[in-house]
This record gives sequence, structure tokens and C-alpha cells, in this order.
Amino acid sequence: MRCGVLALQGDWAAHIGALERAGAAARPVRTATELEEIDALVLPGGESTVVLRLLEREGWMERLVERLRNGLPVLATCAGIILLARDVTPEQPSFGLLDIGVRRNAYGRQVSSTIVPVRLSEAFAGPAEMEGVFIRAPRIERVGPGVEVLGWRGDDPALVRQGAIVAATFHPEITGDDRVHRYFLDVAGGTP
Ligand code: GLN
Repeated sequence: MRCGVLALQGDWAAHIGALERAGAAARPVRTATELEEIDALVLPGGESTVVLRLLEREGWMERLVERLRNGLPVLATCAGIILLARDVTPEQPSFGLLDIGVRRNAYGRQVSSTIVPVRLSEAFAGPAEMEGVFIRAPRIERVGPGVEVLGWRGDDPALVRQGAIVAATFHPEITGDDRVHRYFLDVAGGTP
């Protein structure tokens, strides 16, 4: 399976490392051509407004949304989950493919970025918690009926799945605990 990481902005390189540790071949996606050459995609953290602007400028945002709508497996983290969410507060454009509502920067500013344990569902083997690095993270405020919650920060959903979409409000790519990436590769059908 060819796994791509959207590499227009943000911490895409860390995802390539995590995917490789999890046994996948991973590559950056920066062009419309590279988008056609992948079977799964990561939407990394960064700044969702900037990524939207860059995608518009690149001219292949519609094709990206079409591929996602057609079931391209996707792992979205932080800004990535904001791009996919159906409802975003304060309001901003989004792909609307993941039936959740998120509030941007809901846990505070950069200075209040923090590491909090994320409690995992039984879908995950190993320790019941993982380190959750929250960097100006969105908060999931609403979860639709077709969305499974796989991890919590306190009472807040922090890791969710809807079909071939796996999405986290934190950054699982930078702690060295690659269980979210392994889970995603399973979902995407690319486990080695
Ligand atoms: N606050 C950013 C946004 O709204 C997300 C931050 C992140 O991806 N670490 O897009």
C-alpha cells in the first residue's frame, strides 16, 4: 500500500517517520500527480486555515475531496481533523466528511499546549493510555451516530473513527507510540 502524507504545511515529516516505524512505505504528497499515486493519506497537524489556502492555490482541493468521498482511507490529526469535520467553530470552510463538531483552539493557546494521557478503547492492545500531545488542539464537541470513539481526553473524545477515516485531536506521530498509525494501516488494509 502506498501511503501519502499531505506535505503542504505542518508536521508531515513526523508522520512519515511514524508510518515507516509501523511498517508502511510513506511519501510526501505535494502535487495533483502525487495525490493519484497513493492508496491512503495522512492529513497532518499545522494550521487549518493555511492548509485550506494552499490547497486552493494548488488547484486540486476538489480532487482531494472527491478521492476522500470515494473512500480513500485517511488519518487526520489536529488541523487535519478540522479540515474533515462537518461543523467547525468558529465557522470556517471544511470538507464536511467526518460527522463531528469541533471547536478550534479550545484547550488554550500555544503556551497551554500540553501532554495529557489519552484513554484508549478496547480496540487497542497494550497500555490503556497513550501520551496525548495537544498543540492548540481542537475539541470535539459533537459526535454523530456513525462515529466510533476510540480515545478520550478526560470526558472529551480525542480519537475517533468513521469508516476509513481515523482522526485525532492530538499528535500521535511525535511520541514514538505508533499504535494509532498501526491501527490506521489496519483500517486501510495495508498491514504488512
Ligand atoms: N490550531 C490549529 C488550527 O486551528 C491546529 C493546531 C495543530 O494542528 N497543532 O488549525
